[in-house]
Amino acid sequence: MLQKCEGVVIRTTDYGETNKIVTLFTREWGKIGVMARGAKKPNSRLSSITQIFTYGYFLIQKGTGLSGLQQGEIITPFRSIAEDIFLTAYASFIIELTDKCTDEKKPNPYHFELLYQTLHLMNEGYDPDILMYIYEMKMLNVIGLYPVLNQCSVCGEASGRFSFSIREGGFICHRCLEKDPYHFKISAATVKLLRLFYYFDLSRLGSISVKDTTKKELKMVISAYYEEYSGLRLKSKKFLDSIAQMRNLL
Ligand SMILES: [Zn+2]
Repeated sequence: MLQKCEGVVIRTTDYGETNKIVTLFTREWGKIGVMARGAKKPNSRLSSITQIFTYGYFLIQKGTGLSGLQQGEIITPFRSIAEDIFLTAYASFIIELTDKCTDEKKPNPYHFELLYQTLHLMNEGYDPDILMYIYEMKMLNVIGLYPVLNQCSVCGEASGRFSFSIREGGFICHRCLEKDPYHFKISAATVKLLRLFYYFDLSRLGSISVKDTTKKELKMVISAYYEEYSGLRLKSKKFLDSIAQMRNLL
């Protein structure tokens, strides 16, 4: 039976001389793997729509085994991402995180929309660091992590000056700092943004400008939290870090 879906190509693996196994993150079915026969041949009609980051409609032949990709149609090409090595690095991280955080055939239209919006805004020139931090904060619930960001993780007070405690799994107020001597000191701006990224819809974000010192704090907290609790090891993270270093030298 032929079925149509809307999706983003998040991984491709060569299969034999001419075929590819393509992993799609779809609005309808969540993550699925499909066989694209002949897609490695340059003149194949599947060749352009099975490139990584492709956002399009896909016609899938569902069967008992691995489904087959019959044809596809690009909805919007993310040209800026494909043509910019820095943006490619960010987008690679976003899709690898998506791949590692999701199980096959578990539909999550909200997550699909988030992925699409993130790539779309990145392609439109929105700050890729901010988009990445937002995406990482939003992925936490998907992998079953619930940092405490609406109050102190130790005493439960909602007001106060907050730092971040990896050990306590969230904000820690000035009254409780001694409970975690290794807490991260962060600015009020970072506290506000961590909350905003975690709780608010991407579509409601609007344009925000964030200082480099605040970005450093966001990166430090989010990376350390993932390191401690997610159990994820992403190949694209190393690439992204070396690319980011390169960009700072330019
Ligand atoms: Zn407290």
